[in-house]
Amino acid sequence: MQLESTLTCPSCGHRFVETMPTDACQFFYHCKGCGTRLKPLAGDCCVFCSYGSVPCPPVQSNDRCCAPVPWLESRPGLPGAERHSA
Ligand SMILES: [Zn+2]
Repeated sequence: MQLESTLTCPSCGHRFVETMPTDACQFFYHCKGCGTRLKPLAGDCCVFCSYGSVPCPPVQSNDRCCAPVPWLESRPGLPGAERHSA
C-alpha cells in the first residue's frame, strides 16, 4: 500500500507530497502555494482521491471508501446546475 501521495492543486498547479493517514479520510487540504482550501470532488471521499497521485488507503485496501460523510449530503448542487428563474 502506498501512503505517500502527490497532491496537485487545481488552482495554482503546485504539487505537494503528503503522507496519508491510514485510519481516516482527509476532507480538506490547504494549498501551501496559494492558500486555496481543496475539498474532494463529487463522489470522492477525500482530497487524495480527487487530487492525489494515488487513492487514499481505505480505497486501496477495501476498494471502497470509508464511511459516508454527512457533509456530502448537504453539498449544494454543481455550479451551473442551479438555475434561479426569478
Ligand atoms: Zn494552490
